[in-house]
Amino acid sequence: MTARLMKPLPLLLVISMVAVAQEVTAQNAQCVRERTAMIETIRAYARSHVGDLGQQGLSERVLEAMGQTQRHLFTPERSCSIAYADRPIPIGLGQTISQPFIVALMTQLAEVTPDDVVLEVGTGSGYQAAILGHLARKVCTIEIIPQLAETAAKTLRDLAYDNVSVRLGDGYAGWPECGPFDAIVVTAALGQVPPPLIEQLKVGGRLVMPVGPAYTTQHLTVVEKTGPGNTTTRAVGLVRFVPFTRSQN
Ligand code: SAH
Repeated sequence: MTARLMKPLPLLLVISMVAVAQEVTAQNAQCVRERTAMIETIRAYARSHVGDLGQQGLSERVLEAMGQTQRHLFTPERSCSIAYADRPIPIGLGQTISQPFIVALMTQLAEVTPDDVVLEVGTGSGYQAAILGHLARKVCTIEIIPQLAETAAKTLRDLAYDNVSVRLGDGYAGWPECGPFDAIVVTAALGQVPPPLIEQLKVGGRLVMPVGPAYTTQHLTVVEKTGPGNTTTRAVGLVRFVPFTRSQN
């Protein structure tokens, strides 16, 4: 059909379409502003947590990935004023997305490079997986709650994170078919690091995880695999994560 043959749109419809477009643009501009402010807050935290981050501090690559990821689209309300605030966000079923600085810190400690294959245990909303998706070649993420796994997989699919795969299951056993991994990020707290995760980590790889009891503070811990049967472990700082649950619970 040529443009000449098309019926003109009624004026009222055109006006309301323009109004909707303006609203969407204004909302996007607000989201960009809020996201930029979030990055500045993360930078400020990074300056006061030099000890946790090490000499190199927070890399621009990590900050760029956080700047490119639309956190609000991973939250139930999809509200920018809520999503970019400096706090964790409930995502339902008793789970939360971590405060932005903690996401940045864990991502930095995982030291992800563009060729890496990364495992995340605790998909939740899919937000941390999306950040890792910007930085790595392939991300595999496991979630134990079916409803969260389904929603996160849909969000990641809709946003075209084609290098991120979501699996429903108990992440204690890792995901051997997807590994071995250059980095592993665990976003739920457990008293000890699951041995299968260390097995699936490459020599030279890093695992970042909150280690400690549930419902209190834990040590954010970095385990580096220095040889086939060797690891070094360092505790970075205190954090508070939701519990790592097991499938038989
Ligand atoms: N990384 C998430 C937030 C994690 S909240 C995000 O960016 O949104 C921790 C998540 O770990 C919860 O969704 C919880 O259901 C999940 N979880 C707890 N124990 C688990 C296990 N054994 N295996 C996989 N996921 C688990």
